[in-house]
Amino acid sequence: MTARTKIVAGNWKMNKTVAEAISLVEQLKKDLAAFSGGDVILCPPFTALPSVAKLLGSFPKIHLGAQNLHPAPQGAFTGEISAAMLRDVGCQFVIVGHSERRRNFGETDAFLREKLLAAVAAGLRPIFCVGEELPDRESGRWPVHLRSQLQGALHGVPVDVLSEIVLAYEPVWAIGTGRNATPEQAQEAHALLRKEMEALHGASIASRMRIQYGGSVTPQNAHELLIQPDVDGLLVGGASLNAESFTSIVLAVG
Ligand code: PEP
Repeated sequence: MTARTKIVAGNWKMNKTVAEAISLVEQLKKDLAAFSGGDVILCPPFTALPSVAKLLGSFPKIHLGAQNLHPAPQGAFTGEISAAMLRDVGCQFVIVGHSERRRNFGETDAFLREKLLAAVAAGLRPIFCVGEELPDRESGRWPVHLRSQLQGALHGVPVDVLSEIVLAYEPVWAIGTGRNATPEQAQEAHALLRKEMEALHGASIASRMRIQYGGSVTPQNAHELLIQPDVDGLLVGGASLNAESFTSIVLAVG
């Protein structure tokens, strides 16, 4: 079996002023000084990216990510930020397709595909989120939904792009609700996503692709999720806003 390096990312969403971001990162640098068990990514809001990049410049254990990008290289897109701009401030990763963007900003599979292509072309590694809403979980239609999201954005995407992508399974009913998927539910969904990747793009890409779980991850449930064979890391929202809880989650990697 391919050994996949674990990857834990913190999505701060629309939280933290620059001063608050600096204080959190300074604490994380102390708390994670001895950590070497995997990749750690912080995704602050756009306004804090330059300050956090400066702090992480001397701390290569933590990588910088953004929460969103626009696929166009430049132009008349008021309020938007391009992949090259993110690279310019030191980002290595970018979240694409978070359910809050799909739901609140109407982002479609086709648009997300453009974002994935633009991100990789600029040298960013996308964390591409998929996940079903509660009615699809309860009706048992969640595999159909996940397959459709994967196919919609990734069908025909070249292998050199796919190999830069980290997938994140984020059941919408678990995000910010305090109700996480059980380790068994997460494993079942991750195995399905890997199987679907294999059907779409072959066994080699599928076995190398890292798949994070996201949805109400806490220090209490991180370990049980991380020991599932197809769970290669975690995407953490609320619990990443606090140094103590995020550090405990990262250290659960082992
Ligand atoms: C997220 O928004 O990606 C997320 C997983 O949030 P939370 O951990 O707060 O559920």
